[in-house]
Amino acid sequence: MRMEDLDPDRSRSTFAEAAIEDLRWLGIRWQEGPDRGGSFGPYVQSKRRAIYLAAWRKLLRRGYLYPCRCSRKDLETALGAPHERVTGGVEPQPMGKQELLDDEPMYPGTCRNLQGKAPQLPGPTVSDIEAPDGINWRFRVPDGEAIEFDDRNLGRQRYIAGEDFGDFVVWRRDGVPSYQLACVADDAAMGITEIVRGADLLKSTARQILLNHALGFANPSWYHCRLVVDHNGRRLAKRHDSLSLRAMRQRGLTPMNILSADLPVEV
Ligand SMILES: [Zn+2]
Repeated sequence: MRMEDLDPDRSRSTFAEAAIEDLRWLGIRWQEGPDRGGSFGPYVQSKRRAIYLAAWRKLLRRGYLYPCRCSRKDLETALGAPHERVTGGVEPQPMGKQELLDDEPMYPGTCRNLQGKAPQLPGPTVSDIEAPDGINWRFRVPDGEAIEFDDRNLGRQRYIAGEDFGDFVVWRRDGVPSYQLACVADDAAMGITEIVRGADLLKSTARQILLNHALGFANPSWYHCRLVVDHNGRRLAKRHDSLSLRAMRQRGLTPMNILSADLPVEV
């Protein structure tokens, strides 16, 4: 059990405790975790900053990163506001931290070739910089390169860097490593060999393959689950709080009711 609590807006210790309690109630068991320790700890991401900094530094020294000064407003303007994503069944969302963490709009490349000319760099040259804070750092993707992998549920997947996704954030200006960076750094450090997660993260897997390659980490295997949808075919979101584990438990449903339910999934 690894607690992913890096986003200060979405993470509170009460949420972490509730998540552990809900999973236990559902019958999920784990051998290592924040509540029982283990040899790959700490199991709370907010205590693993040194590991993410080391990965950031390695990427920087190897020339994969550049600082990005674009504000969210700059990006919205460059992409044409209001920003909309055309993904089946997903409501258009304003660009928020959620997207910076999990998925993010195509970066137009504004800051990609500014190195050397950038007036406000925190050090003499980019690779001399010791700490990432105060500015966004992006990973330069190999434009046109195909990233392919075999998903154990959905089969062969293929994404083109620079077309399906652009240069992505690995460290945010507010001092928080991105989901992508933290995830690959932890998976490597913890010896993770198999990842099961939602199909909304397929594109993130392509990004993480690039990060693994850049950092010299082995790729794990992936199994992406189709997402559960509501009766209108829409992905579950905050408005579906009545379907949270906690709410269903309070309505008197049992773990067996939930685990054996035949839920509609996105096709
Ligand atoms: Zn920029």
